[in-house]
Parts: sequence; structure tokens; C-alpha cells
Amino acid sequence: MTTKPNILLIYTGGTIGMIKDYKTNALRAFDFSQIVEKIPELQQLNCKVTSISFDEPIDSSNMNTKYYIDIAEIIESNYKNFDGFVVLTGSDTMSYTSSAISFMLENLSKPIIFSGSQLPIGDLRTDAKENLITSIEVASANKNGTPIISEVCLYFEYKLYRANRTTKISSEQFEAFTSLNFSPLAESGVHLKFNEQLLYQPKNKEKDLIVRKNLVNEVVILKLFPGISDLVVESIFSIPNLKGVVLETYGSGNAPSSENFIITLKNAIDQGIKIVNVTQCKSGSVMMGHYDTSLMLKNIGVIDGKDITTESAIAKLMYLLSHGLSAEDFTMFFENSLRGELTDK
Ligand code: ASP
Repeated sequence: MTTKPNILLIYTGGTIGMIKDYKTNALRAFDFSQIVEKIPELQQLNCKVTSISFDEPIDSSNMNTKYYIDIAEIIESNYKNFDGFVVLTGSDTMSYTSSAISFMLENLSKPIIFSGSQLPIGDLRTDAKENLITSIEVASANKNGTPIISEVCLYFEYKLYRANRTTKISSEQFEAFTSLNFSPLAESGVHLKFNEQLLYQPKNKEKDLIVRKNLVNEVVILKLFPGISDLVVESIFSIPNLKGVVLETYGSGNAPSSENFIITLKNAIDQGIKIVNVTQCKSGSVMMGHYDTSLMLKNIGVIDGKDITTESAIAKLMYLLSHGLSAEDFTMFFENSLRGELTDK
């Protein structure tokens, strides 16, 4: 990085890219090729911003693994020419998408900052400008030419988070995201303060970026609730070609101890289906074996999700399932942190 950092802004869709037509009062998509002209503040930043947009921007409810690959390929083909990337998506599924991208990009040594907003960029009270401008600042922040951030992050409402630790918690508040098991990587006040000791330090800086595009989407999230019937559980586990299940359990990883339930899970594991135990709680960790009701899961070979989020767990399943790992290796990789997504103990 010699002169001004080069930042690529990737717009995939979502509220942030909308503008109010004051004649009709309706929201319409914004032409992102004109973003620098439309937001003159961007010219005051100490970096060069280039933008690229999906041909047909999507509401993030329509996000899927094909779009994950599209985002990863845009980053891959521009990786050498840019110092940092800001990816704008709708906030609804941003934690899933950014978690998936964090696994798909191996040997990452540049910043990838996901952001969006609750109000369109053209709205008078918009949160979009601050989110966008600070995301670009974070993506261009460097120390003597070395980027401060070299991981996938999510910036929203004055906080920079490790993306694969986040969850959307509000459809109303500007503070729409949280990361309860991992402190923010930076906070934006009068100054942008990085929490330096938490930042991911790339081990393979010299290695080339590898983009893993094979994702397995024969996976499901099963959230337990008191009264869930055997028929429902059995039906989920008999989905043809099912490869992995994120099992959202209670508290520190507890589940019903009924024989039918345990046998259904054990049969699935024996057939090679991976089952990961994550907690329904927003903070804290699974502790398999802490109670009898989780010891049984441990004994039949359920994988310990520790303090991973559901969003990150489903992304990690999709990513790891494509690697053709042995059962032991799969468990070992899942139970250890690959991108800072869980707390190794
Ligand atoms: N429904 C929108 C989306 O996720 C909301 C947003 O942009 O924040 O695409």
C-alpha cells in the first residue's frame, strides 16, 4: 500500500442501496455506479473507492449459496488490485452470509467488511451514511501499509464485529447486531478505536488466497422446543441425502433424554449425518456432559458447537462437509476454531 488505499465496494442489495424519490415518496434502487457522486463525503476519505453491484440486487431474504459464491468470486478476481473490500448486503441474513464468506476465504490477509443499514441511504434519518463511511475507513485502515484488519468483519452502528460471531437482534433499532460471546473488534466514537489484542493475525500472510466454492447445502437447523414430537424429529432426520444438522438445544446444550429421541439421533450419526450441538441462548456455551441430558448426546457422537452462533455453525457445516473428512477429523475441525468463530478452551 503506497499511496491511497484502493477499496472495492460491492453492493449485493438491501435497504442501504435505496433512495427516496421525493416526488413519489417511494423507495427505489440506487445506481451504485454513481455512489461517489451521490455521497460527496466519500471524496473526503483518504482512499480511492470503486464500486461494483450485482446486476440484479437482491433482498437478503433471497440470499443463497450461489450468491455466496458470486460474492467470493468478486473478491477473488479483484483481490490483488484492492487493499480492502466493503460488502453491502441486506441486514436480515448478513450474519449468515458474512460467516460463510469467512470460511470460504482461506489465507485471507485483507479486510472484508460487511455492512448495510436499517434506513435507506436517501432517508433523512438514515444510518446508512455512517455505516458506509466508517466501513470504508475500517477497510482502508493500515499501519505503514499493512492492513489493521485481515479478517471478515461486520460493521453496524458504531461497532466493528468479527462477522462469524454476530447475530441480528433487532428489526427496529439502529443497533441491529450483537456479538455476545466475543467483544467488538473496534468502536467508533470521536476516534476509531481498535481492540488490537482481539484482531485476527494471519498466520499465512505469504500464502495465496484460496476460495472454497464447494458448499454442501443438504443441511438443516432443528430448534428444539418442549413438546416437539417424535414424528417431527424422525421426519427431519429422514430427509433424503441429509448431511448435517445444527441442533439448537436448551441452555448449556441439553436435550430430551427420551429413548426415541436419542435413538433417532444415534441412527443418523451411524449413517454419517453430522449433528452439531449449539445453544438456543444468545450468549454462553454448550458444555456437553455438564448435565445428564447432554452427556447422552456426547456419548452418541454429537459434535460440540461450544459457543458458536447458529449462523456460523450452519456456514461451517456447509464448508466442512465438502472436504470429505473422516468422522474424527470432521469433529476435530468443527470443535476447534478455524476463523475465530468459537472460543478454544
Ligand atoms: N429486508 C432487507 C434485507 O435484508 C433489510 C435490510 O436491508 O436491512 O435485504
